[in-house]
Amino acid sequence: APEQPAPPTRTTCPYCGVGCGVLAQPDRMGGATIAGDPDHPSNFGRLCSKGSALGETLSLEGRLLHPAIDGARASWTDALDATAEGFRRVLDEHGPGAIAVYLSGQLLTEDYYAANKLFKGFLGSANVDTNSRLCMSSSVAGHKRAFGSDTVPGTYRDLETADLLVLVGSNAAWCHPVLYQRMLAAKVARGAKIVVIDPRRTATAEEADLHLPIEAGFDSALFCGLLVALAERGALNDGFIDSHTSNFTAALDRAREIAPDVAATAAACGLNPTDVETFFDLFAATERVVTLYSQGVNQSAQGSDKVNAIVNVHLATGRIGREGMGPFSLTGQPNAMGGREVGGLSNQLAAHMGFDVESIEKVRRFWDAPRMARAEGLKAVDMFDAVERGEIRALWVMGTNPAVSLPRADAARAAMRNLEHFVVSENVASNDTLGAGAKIRLPAAAWGEKDGTVTNSERRISRQRAFLALPGQARPDWWIVTQVASRLGFAEAFDWRTPGEVFREHAALSAFENNGGRDFDIGALADLDTRDYDKLEPIQWPAKTGAARKETRFFAKGGFFTPDRRARFVAVEPITPAATPTRTFPYRLNTGRIRDQWHTMTRTGRSPRLASHIIEPFIEIHPADAAREGLVDGGFAKVSSSHGEAVLRVRVEPGARQGALFAPIHWTTETSSDGRVGALVHAFVDPQSGQPDAKATPA
Ligand code: SF4
Repeated sequence: APEQPAPPTRTTCPYCGVGCGVLAQPDRMGGATIAGDPDHPSNFGRLCSKGSALGETLSLEGRLLHPAIDGARASWTDALDATAEGFRRVLDEHGPGAIAVYLSGQLLTEDYYAANKLFKGFLGSANVDTNSRLCMSSSVAGHKRAFGSDTVPGTYRDLETADLLVLVGSNAAWCHPVLYQRMLAAKVARGAKIVVIDPRRTATAEEADLHLPIEAGFDSALFCGLLVALAERGALNDGFIDSHTSNFTAALDRAREIAPDVAATAAACGLNPTDVETFFDLFAATERVVTLYSQGVNQSAQGSDKVNAIVNVHLATGRIGREGMGPFSLTGQPNAMGGREVGGLSNQLAAHMGFDVESIEKVRRFWDAPRMARAEGLKAVDMFDAVERGEIRALWVMGTNPAVSLPRADAARAAMRNLEHFVVSENVASNDTLGAGAKIRLPAAAWGEKDGTVTNSERRISRQRAFLALPGQARPDWWIVTQVASRLGFAEAFDWRTPGEVFREHAALSAFENNGGRDFDIGALADLDTRDYDKLEPIQWPAKTGAARKETRFFAKGGFFTPDRRARFVAVEPITPAATPTRTFPYRLNTGRIRDQWHTMTRTGRSPRLASHIIEPFIEIHPADAAREGLVDGGFAKVSSSHGEAVLRVRVEPGARQGALFAPIHWTTETSSDGRVGALVHAFVDPQSGQPDAKATPA
């Protein structure tokens, strides 16, 4: 009988935070046919252009397939010995403050867990940060201030049952396409209204019932104005405020100072007062409202305040944790959430614990850790500044390209050249970060070759499963960490043989001595055997030991994770933009993604179909500004800031705001020598979250 093909492998898309389920059918030639997984509750079979082109991105061209030391091919034994030896030397000579690891929202939870445990528990350094710092750390800080925990209260289903969807700083049509399609379907089926708050007339704004082209940076003023309007229209939920929150009066008083009425709000935000009034009316009159926010909120010098201004209006109306209601953070990367869960940020420990004495002790006991970090480490921008100053001497970069993606990218690239010990684990054989003097190159397994879990924007943990053999000498990142840990004398604590064993430990830690004090608890998954882990269906957390596994929401009846179990209203600070335009740099440069590319295009750049959407880096500019600068559509512009410059194709765009520029982030020195816009971006960070402002650099 003819041989039947094996069933496709159920895995998860490696791109955005929607976390779509994917079916991959290998073709025995190193490729695979890709389809959406109809049984995955995040996408029900849909894929966007990027997801559906995954089969075109599997070639091994340009891959890093063997370890190297100082540019010469090396054995794994030598490369791991040298990696461990370098960290040991710097640690012995300069202490834990001189070492760091910089991770990625592309890593799997198991990779993240292993790296975090090694550095924070066994090397004594909390200098463990991630490119997710550039992506959603303002949401983390905002959530923790309001809820006492980093909790996304709702689920994707709420987007389909809401009557009003407010998208703030989110071009979901391009950046979270499958979720956006679910919203549009609800709009058609139920007549839900969509409001988009964004300086640009994006593809998302095109479909909105109302677009508020706000001046970059002023979102919290708009939501302060909304809080005042809700109070004046009698649209507050006094019962919820009284029973479940604190600090309401201070927040409302501050909101009145910042945005006392519609006219003042509109003036502060550069908006038409009639549009502002319409938005306030809609919000006040609609019970089922979800407010979604993404990088336009997070990547801001006041990102945390923006998040809290949004959360404030949901707390004030009691519209949280109930069907079709709530504030909703859209995470950018496939596993930004998983990274948060294991403590991949330098100011978190593990399982959503912080650096308080009790949590440090808990984690130390659980790990039996010999050298526990006792204080927060450096956040991304500070970490690379410390590299620049020579204070961090040994750095391990895993699966990310900070020489392109960090603000002041030229300075970051130059700083890395100072490192005494510089290790990069990567899929690709060359990029800007490897080129910045990486001494040791470790070939990491890529999507389709490695096994583990990711968590999407609605707290849903899904399996990524391998369907291709490991190529060359590539190995999973978690395995690389175990080998280095073992050479540093910690073999017993890192004695995992499979990613399932790492996951079980992570799940057990989440439940360890947790008496309802933490939101993140997946204790029910701590005893999965290998078969259960392999077959794990997508599951939302929490998944507590003994509790039924079902779709979950938080906070409908209070139960916040603050000491008094009440949500805190935050009195946001008056808006002071990080930097104001000058005569030399009169525009505000906004950066972001385009529809068909992902990060630095290491994967999406291999698909001709995706590359044909937009073929080169560009600068978007309003027609009046273009005319003033003597620029024509299709010509070139040199764009400069105090930090660097880029030469970009001009797109004259009537939907742009006057005085605002937009450029995509994807191009690198290798793909466009003049189009690396990270070099232009200033390094102002939100004081609460440490997340840099990537939306308003004077240029
Ligand atoms: Fe992948 Fe996001 Fe597209 Fe889904 S929406 S297929 S997760 S890129």
